[in-house]
Amino acid sequence: MHNVVIVGGGPAGLSAALSAAAAGAPVLLLDSNPRLGGQYWRQPDESFGDQGSQHFDLETGLLLINAVKARKEIEVWSGAQIWSATHKDGVNTLRVLVNGKEKIINTGNLILCTGAYDRTLPFPGWDIPGVMTPGGVQSLIKGHGVLAGKKVVVAGSGPFLLPVAAGVVKAGGSVVELLEANKSRRWITSLFVVLENLSKIKEGFYYIKTISEAKVRARFGYAVVAAHAGVNGELDSVDVAKINRNFKIKKVRNVKCDVAAIGWGFTPDTTLAGTLGCKQIVAKDGAVVVSADSNQQSSVAGVFVAGEITGIGGSELSMAEGVIAGLSAAKFVGCKVEVLKAHRARRAKKQRFATALINSYPIKDGWKSWVHQETIICRCEEVKLKDLHYAIDELGATDSRTAKLLTRCGMGMCQGRICGRSVVDLVADQLNVSPTDTDRISAVNRPIITPISLGQLAAGE
Ligand SMILES: Cc1cc2nc3c(=O)[nH]c(=O)nc-3n(C[C@H](O)[C@H](O)[C@H](O)COP(=O)(O)OP(=O)(O)OC[C@H]3O[C@@H](n4cnc5c(N)ncnc54)[C@H](O)[C@@H]3O)c2cc1C
Repeated sequence: MHNVVIVGGGPAGLSAALSAAAAGAPVLLLDSNPRLGGQYWRQPDESFGDQGSQHFDLETGLLLINAVKARKEIEVWSGAQIWSATHKDGVNTLRVLVNGKEKIINTGNLILCTGAYDRTLPFPGWDIPGVMTPGGVQSLIKGHGVLAGKKVVVAGSGPFLLPVAAGVVKAGGSVVELLEANKSRRWITSLFVVLENLSKIKEGFYYIKTISEAKVRARFGYAVVAAHAGVNGELDSVDVAKINRNFKIKKVRNVKCDVAAIGWGFTPDTTLAGTLGCKQIVAKDGAVVVSADSNQQSSVAGVFVAGEITGIGGSELSMAEGVIAGLSAAKFVGCKVEVLKAHRARRAKKQRFATALINSYPIKDGWKSWVHQETIICRCEEVKLKDLHYAIDELGATDSRTAKLLTRCGMGMCQGRICGRSVVDLVADQLNVSPTDTDRISAVNRPIITPISLGQLAAGE
């Protein structure tokens, strides 16, 4: 009998499992990946050999993963994907696919640590094979030992570009451009926060040393604004633009490459929390996050949340929140345990760093000027900007949800995970209004968490 069920085996979920188990609560830990570790400590298959050089802090990851495996109170189901969930009368029903078969779990005590995924922005040519997200490029290297291409442009905004560029170099690739859209001096306003989070500086220098040794120089105030295919239909080159503070293009040059890894931070994966009815709010960076109280409890009693789904802040904040969520969930089921002042102080310190991150890497409105009428916005359903504009100007759509229903934008395989956030911005732009919280929250909510075949559905419990 499990007292606490945890979804997500990344830094937050591992920390939550250990603290709940240490407090005396038996735990079931579910994770869709084949191996524990989440995004940060993504593990390769044994057959691919050691990928240790791809990780800055694998020691902490292995410590947590081995501790979870060693505790008999923690049962782990890897490769377990929750495809649908509901909440009724205090009971959360999770429908889980394990080895292609559906199982049903009912629990009153749940911790959600479902993490985040790459944030993308549309631009002409972003659907050409070879244009990827930094997370995609890194996952291939870390998880499968595969380098997506030899000549790689790494671009976008945020500190995640550094480990990706370093990872490409370590895997034997060449980073032909490393482009950050914002200026590095934005960090100056957060100097105190940086100094109290020295581990982050150490991590930053670890990546900078690797890329400097490979003679890669980061350029600030630049972005990839278009991609071009060669005769084989694959990526041949990208247009690199010098941009102003609002991301408007100043000057463009063309750069040859075979892969472009372009990302704009992360989007919290709140889908599961949304299906369970947990309250979601819009954070300062426009991301939809799950609201949590000081004990990491969501608006639904007995459902706790930790890690990137409560806001993007890195692995250390995820761990700090995970510990508190684990203790709170254990207390909820009757264990005699308290969240200590020290736990809250650690979380507060990491939250200050998360705020500094958001302030240092804003995504400015000027990106919308990179998009043309013929640019595909929804890659799954091949909806162009002109289709969205037609839905607004000719068919009368006055919000992003109606524009979606009229164009199928965001109704394909990924269910708007890739384009949803941008569609809200583009529709509001055309209507000359600011997006509402309702627009943003409705764009990230979907009743089915992941697609499932009819055969699996019919054969399920
Ligand atoms: C692609 C990618 C790469 C990253 N690489 C780095 C890096 O190199 N360095 C760095 O500092 N930060 C990195 N980050 C940021 C990183 O996500 C966080 O710092 C940290 O991993 C967040 O921890 P977490 O526990 O909240 O979530 P995650 O580590 O993302 O773990 C979430 C887990 O939940 C599982 N899950 C989600 N939904 C379901 C479901 N429905 N059913 C079952 N399981 C589910 C996922 O498979 C995943 O294993 C990366 C983020 C992404 C998206």
